[in-house]
Amino acid sequence: MSTPPTNGNGSSSTSKPSNPLKRVDLDGHDLPPSPAPSSPRNGRRRYALATELVYTESKDQYGASSVPIYQSATFKQSTAQGGQSEYDYTRSGNPTRTHLERHLAKIMNANRALAVGSGMGALDVVSRLLRPGDEVITGDDLYGGTHRLLTYLATNMGIVVKHVDTTDAEGVRSHITDKTAMVLLETPTNPLIKIVDIQTIARAAHEANSKAIVVVDNTMLSPMLLNPLDIGADVVYESGTKYLSGHHDIMAGVLAVNDTELGNKLFFMINSTGCGLTPNDCFLLMRGVKTLAIRMEKQQANAQAIAEFLESHGFRVRYPGLKSHPQYDLHWSMARGAGAVLSFETGDPAVSARIVEAARLWGISVSFGCVNSLISMPCQMSHASIDSKTRAERQMPEDIIRLCVGIEDADDLIDDLSRALVQAGAVTVTLDGFHATGAAEEVGKAPLTA
Ligand SMILES: *Cc1c(COP(=O)(O)O)cnc(C)c1O
Repeated sequence: MSTPPTNGNGSSSTSKPSNPLKRVDLDGHDLPPSPAPSSPRNGRRRYALATELVYTESKDQYGASSVPIYQSATFKQSTAQGGQSEYDYTRSGNPTRTHLERHLAKIMNANRALAVGSGMGALDVVSRLLRPGDEVITGDDLYGGTHRLLTYLATNMGIVVKHVDTTDAEGVRSHITDKTAMVLLETPTNPLIKIVDIQTIARAAHEANSKAIVVVDNTMLSPMLLNPLDIGADVVYESGTKYLSGHHDIMAGVLAVNDTELGNKLFFMINSTGCGLTPNDCFLLMRGVKTLAIRMEKQQANAQAIAEFLESHGFRVRYPGLKSHPQYDLHWSMARGAGAVLSFETGDPAVSARIVEAARLWGISVSFGCVNSLISMPCQMSHASIDSKTRAERQMPEDIIRLCVGIEDADDLIDDLSRALVQAGAVTVTLDGFHATGAAEEVGKAPLTA
């Protein structure tokens, strides 16, 4: 067969996709291996998130305790008409992926979750809801890859992208027009760790234009710390490469919605383009998700200790776990924790480079959410796809150092960082300990403003 059979899962090329859920047993009763009926909507008692993360029920014929990897592109049909079984072609659906997606829907408080090949793949799927002339309102301190994709859409696809200061909810409201199709938010932003008021902006967007959809990139907090769908978002997506999988051994992206029609549209794109997550990676992501709670707890505790350590030695630190964060209250009004990414400044890119290179335990790497700790200079690395002029306009400090904290022993991490600070000349050592010096000291004295 040169083309997959048309199965009602939206793989037909007719303009109106048929209902992709038609043959899906939403309660999970007759699926081969399926998690416990996982939508919060089905009335099952909910456990605490840490429990839900590990709890699944399997209908596997052998009682396998982890979901089997259905490494199969096709599934046999019982009649010449095809389309009787739930699965026919893995681009359209695969039991391992279904198992993962139902589990994700449960922990993301969503009606439907979808798993794709990367976080950027998830944004690509969402962006295909847009038509030429549509306006997207988004932040000015975005993930570099997001900025790159939006710039491509603006340059080549006739999408109007407005980068605004999303920390100013009232200001965002003034930009929303009847052409606004999408408001795309990230919180905390990265590397500036600015907090965005999802609830207020979502309400303003829906009031100003009932057709506008509010999309939240929840990669920085993960469903462990925030469920954007609960506070007004229409679509949430995140990179499964980060906290959800936790080991930097796969790339993945997840999307979640409550609106059935919106879910069908997103599924249509995944089925049409073939960006669904592979069975093998679905298995690995499923395994990773089960330890999300314990990893995040440890990573956060370490991040808090390191943020306090740096601040107490005179550095200007950006972390929503610190009372000095100008949007501390706003962050805690939405989120259940501060996360494990923080940044600090030295006032001098050369000093910052020396610190980064002197660190031994901290790997120099882009990304975050992994069990081991990482250090980077975002303006040189993850955000280099934003040109230097734009970085300057957005007041991104070229010297900023980002720390993505892992699960190691906190004292080891602090010792290693201390040694790197001394070696780089960022601190003066006295009998009483050490303190930020030079430009770092100056910056440290200037408090952050919202
Ligand atoms: C990493 C990241 C992405 C992109 O995810 P990939 O899995 O790398 O494609 C998107 N948004 C944020 C905030 C990220 O950190």
